[in-house]
Amino acid sequence: MALNLEAVGKPIGPVSKDYTWKDVVLYALGVGSGSSELEYCYENKLKVLPSFSIAAIFDFLAHIGVTSNVNLAGILHGEQRLIFHRPIPTEGKLTTWGKITHYYDKGAEKGALVVAESDTYHSNGQKLFTSIMTIFSRLDGGFGGENAPRENIVFPDREPDFIVDAHPSENQPLIYRLSGDIFDLHVDPDFARMAGFEKPIMHGLCTHGYACRALIQSLVPGAPEKVRRMDCRFSKTLYPGIPVQTLIWKTDEGKAVWRTLNAQTGAVVMDNGVFEYGEVPEESIRPEENIRFDGRVAVITGAGAGLGRVYALELARRGAKVVVNDLGSARDGSGQGSSAPADQVVREIQDLGGEAVANYDNVATPEGGKAIIQTALDAFGTVDILINNAGILRDKSILKMEPENWQAVMDVHLNGAYHVSRPAFEVMREKGYGRILMTTSAAGLYGNFGQTNYAAAKMGLVGLMNTLKLEGGKYNIKVNTIAPLAASRLTEDVTPPELFQKMKPEFVAPLALYLCSEMCPVSGSIYNAGMGFFNRAAVVTGPGMTLGNAKTFPTVEDIIANIEAISTLEGGKEYLHLNDQVGDACSALLTPQKAIGPKSAHKEAAKGFETASAVFEAMPAAFKPDAASGVNVVFQYIISGANGGDWSCTIRDQSCVVAPGRHDAPTCTLKIADADFLDMMNGKLKPMQAYTSGKLKIEGDIMKSQLIEKLFAMR
Ligand code: NAD
Repeated sequence: MALNLEAVGKPIGPVSKDYTWKDVVLYALGVGSGSSELEYCYENKLKVLPSFSIAAIFDFLAHIGVTSNVNLAGILHGEQRLIFHRPIPTEGKLTTWGKITHYYDKGAEKGALVVAESDTYHSNGQKLFTSIMTIFSRLDGGFGGENAPRENIVFPDREPDFIVDAHPSENQPLIYRLSGDIFDLHVDPDFARMAGFEKPIMHGLCTHGYACRALIQSLVPGAPEKVRRMDCRFSKTLYPGIPVQTLIWKTDEGKAVWRTLNAQTGAVVMDNGVFEYGEVPEESIRPEENIRFDGRVAVITGAGAGLGRVYALELARRGAKVVVNDLGSARDGSGQGSSAPADQVVREIQDLGGEAVANYDNVATPEGGKAIIQTALDAFGTVDILINNAGILRDKSILKMEPENWQAVMDVHLNGAYHVSRPAFEVMREKGYGRILMTTSAAGLYGNFGQTNYAAAKMGLVGLMNTLKLEGGKYNIKVNTIAPLAASRLTEDVTPPELFQKMKPEFVAPLALYLCSEMCPVSGSIYNAGMGFFNRAAVVTGPGMTLGNAKTFPTVEDIIANIEAISTLEGGKEYLHLNDQVGDACSALLTPQKAIGPKSAHKEAAKGFETASAVFEAMPAAFKPDAASGVNVVFQYIISGANGGDWSCTIRDQSCVVAPGRHDAPTCTLKIADADFLDMMNGKLKPMQAYTSGKLKIEGDIMKSQLIEKLFAMR
């Protein structure tokens, strides 16, 4: 088995690891920390030892071994450099991207060196540390490569400034291994003997943790966040239970060199140590671009122009390989199509130093969808990200909307997303990772005159997302939806020029990229994005109520009498699955009227109404049908003030319907300020007094207004 020399420069990762404060403490205990350093061992005011970094990315280190194809029987951790950009938070997720940068050949007898570099990011989006690691592979030398440049640290010719003694226990590797490196050599006596040792040996990185603690104690006591760099060479193995000594020389402001000895024999177990420390550099406090897509393959449909083009450029700039799909048709989808838009965007990406290929297939057919994904597989071997973005418009009001215009829009937007998502999903499911972004529109979410076809297709995409998010959940496939607002040929003739100028697609792209990133925690969410304004949209379901006892059928009259309670969204929630909604309906059956009913209306009244809308919500339940025999009236309320609004209350056939807004033909209209209205409804102001003092104005049939007190038991 030879080293995989082809692997140089190829991206490795992302490799992710979730961690909590318990992992941080376990690591600290594993490297000898304890009650004298509670800042590393107690979740209250916990700090993270910087050397935790390398232990926490052990899985990534294993990937380097596998990718380089080193002979695992003969490897040792050779050298380690860590550069710290920010303090490590006490919990979160670490994501590491890296690559093998060099192979060096020390000769057939001596072995080879594999050098790998990586950057690790926290789930808060910040880059935490860079690692440059050298694996020494005893059995892989002689492949004809160049020898490694030798860098030796010059140690001052004087006594060290600090000497720190420590005594790892016999059991130290048994604790340390729980942080991730469970290699048998550190625990199994038979395995250790087979490997040529008397007994299991210390993990080099465990001793490294001891050294890190010694350096912090000596140079930045109690302030691990001030550690900027720590380098070392692992030069000899050590048995557990043997005392160690770390020698430290300050060489410059914020700089020291160090080595760690076996305190029994004086042998150097870690050499060439460099340690840098100081305040967190200013530039690392500034936000930086650390959401990367290196190694990811993104397919963007309709990426030859508008929003899709900007998504493609931005993804490529951040490291993704991109398939730029565009049919190059006219705005309404007509015409033969053209390769020019997709080719142009590919050129733009290549000019920026990125990687991209063009695809000109039509999303509106199953063959087109398959071919788009096949382009990604042929060019880059996989698909990680799909943005369903291609779009056309054929606006007409419903009577002028001929079937072909309806169908064409459905085919591109809704069917198109299905045609491309399906083959992409297959690849993503296989690899256990994927991000799919649907593109909806405010026209679908909220309605827009003349766009029945477009609005229906765009809302259909929300339904597609809702189910795909469930089907993709266990495969780490996240599916979300964006409703953009951007200047493009779709909006140029319907947007005032001043506004059009402000609607650059670049204002939308950051959210699209976030939803396509490894960091994205959500699936099944809809976001509006435009002009730098972002908000989330959702289907919200009100608490509702069960009418009757679930044995007799409710009547239409029951519905009318309770329409406010049925309709309210106050206290509403989002459901993530159909079953959740059905579950709520079933449990409401067991406790009829649990949500809002006469009881809760009375409760609301007892504690006093706080808003005018609460009064009108409670009104249907407070209505006394018995007192309304023969009454046929419409009360119109016009309530001024920030808490006010317009509501009508229609009493007919012993039922009561309360509706927001103004009625066409009210029997009488009551005008009052919000605070006075609440005082009146909370019993602090008598209606007659409000009327005679001028606070309440009544227009129309004043006599009928006197019925109000009789018809409602509001308190
Ligand atoms: P755009 O016209 O600039 O881009 C759409 C691209 O899709 C075009 O380049 C077009 O050639 C391509 N396309 C059309 N049909 C295709 C097909 N069958 N196969 C492959 N490619 C095809 O428009 P845009 O504004 O960037 O729109 C992008 C997406 O955003 C669309 O889905 C649109 O409905 C949606 N959207 C845009 C806005 C906005 O304000 N621009 C608002 C809401 C939704």
